[in-house]
Amino acid sequence: MYDVAIIGAGVIGCAVARELSRYDVKVVLLEKDTDIANGTTKANSAIVHGGYDAKPGSLKARFNVEGNAMFDKLCKELDVPFQRIGSLVLAFDHEDMEAIQELYERGLINGVPNMEILDREQVLALEPNLSKHVEGALHAPSAGIVGPWELAIAMAENAIENGVELKLESKVTKIEKLETGYQIFTDKGKVEATYVINCAGLYADEVHNMVAEPSFRIIPRRGQYNVFDRSVGDFVQKVIFQCPTKKGKGVLITPTVHGNLIVGPDAEELDCKESMETTMEGLGFIREQGRKSTENVPAHAIITAFAGLRATPSTGDFIIEEVTGSNGFIDVAGIESPGLTAAPAIAIYVLELLKNSGAMLQEKASFHPIRRKAIRFMELTDEEKAELIQKDPRFGKIICRCESITEGEIVDIIRRKAGALTVDGVKRRARPGTGRCQGGFCGPRVMEILARELEINITEVLKDRSGSYILTGPTKIDTEIEESFGAVAAAKEQ
Ligand SMILES: Cc1cc2nc3c(=O)[nH]c(=O)nc-3n(C[C@H](O)[C@H](O)[C@H](O)COP(=O)(O)OP(=O)(O)OC[C@H]3O[C@@H](n4cnc5c(N)ncnc54)[C@H](O)[C@@H]3O)c2cc1C
Repeated sequence: MYDVAIIGAGVIGCAVARELSRYDVKVVLLEKDTDIANGTTKANSAIVHGGYDAKPGSLKARFNVEGNAMFDKLCKELDVPFQRIGSLVLAFDHEDMEAIQELYERGLINGVPNMEILDREQVLALEPNLSKHVEGALHAPSAGIVGPWELAIAMAENAIENGVELKLESKVTKIEKLETGYQIFTDKGKVEATYVINCAGLYADEVHNMVAEPSFRIIPRRGQYNVFDRSVGDFVQKVIFQCPTKKGKGVLITPTVHGNLIVGPDAEELDCKESMETTMEGLGFIREQGRKSTENVPAHAIITAFAGLRATPSTGDFIIEEVTGSNGFIDVAGIESPGLTAAPAIAIYVLELLKNSGAMLQEKASFHPIRRKAIRFMELTDEEKAELIQKDPRFGKIICRCESITEGEIVDIIRRKAGALTVDGVKRRARPGTGRCQGGFCGPRVMEILARELEINITEVLKDRSGSYILTGPTKIDTEIEESFGAVAAAKEQ
């Protein structure tokens, strides 16, 4: 029997797992997908928000500001890319100036540090590429940018190093109450746990309904983005927001921690919790809307687009509480933006709820907060590179030409705890396929490395989710490949 079962390995589940791994408790992290961070955590704006936006007194406001303050230490311990670059909310007329004044005052109540309202000249001095029609801006220097999936993966890896068990492809389908605790049915068998933390993102309402009457709904709200090549990554230096109006929040322009630029998102309520496709209308809207901030959006440098789904709660605020009538079952639901920012603070609060529910949390002396640094070959000195290649010649072989990623780095991230199992898993951890060619060159080589390291046939390599095979048949006469297709076909027929 586990002490705690966490359902969902997005940034919230992974933050809770890592926080729990400080204590002497037996924890399992159950994830329905083939990888961690494969839900909303992989597709968002990647901003560590300042915290002036959320309504004072809300859980969003509290955990945004508390979470933001935790990022420097957390990202240093876990070797996660994070830059506190600050944000600007642009105002274009008198009405907008009033709105940013309101945001400023809300920020003061929420405890956001060092905000200031800038005039036109100050804004353009900081960001010369912005529209000359700008009137002023709210500057929040505490805002930043982070690698969102890197954060979740790093927290999971550190949690596993400290004793947490991760079970992938384990979708929770049913939960029964026991005299003490819960029996959790997954499509890979049953587990029992005294306490359950529901971090199931878009599906948190369905998981809640497995133990209690429905009390909230999660509404999927899609947001689409364009990603720009690194050649224009310094087009702006800060996160550039537009002023929220009655018509919407506007779109943002921001550099990413990997040196790209992103523009987005729109907001579209949907019925389906899996609709991750981008649309002509959505992308057209964000491009048009982006031009309000700068007439010169460098559209020639767009390399790809993506969409993410917000888990919008019907209640309007994060739902983080023990479920009435289900002792020890804690919902962490409706974690839409600023959920990424809030994640580390939410995890600490969840532990308080667990203690209130009777959990005995004894700190363990063996907890180790530091994650081994990822090897980033191109960031090494020439001497360090030569030494590494001497030790392992795979560091001398470039696999991704756009991002200059070596075979050695890819092997390392496959072999780590919570390592990559799919092509997209490799991409999220080491970045091959994120450059201008979008994997056109390195994709097949990454597949070969995955097949070799995981000891599977190349035809079994997945792009991402279960069933997402890439190879459907031989592309040229190659006896070895033909034989392997023959073997797979024969196995399927049996
Ligand atoms: C367009 C957009 C922009 C955003 N921008 C920002 C931003 O800039 N800054 C910010 O702070 N926040 C932002 N957010 C919000 C942030 O991305 C989310 O709050 C955060 O990723 C939520 O993490 P999560 O772990 O709750 O959900 P997820 O990442 O969705 O994780 C939930 C996990 O549960 C698993 N799961 C579901 N059902 C089951 C089941 N039955 N059994 C087992 N596993 C299950 C899923 O597979 C998934 O892996 C944005 C969100 C969107 C969509």
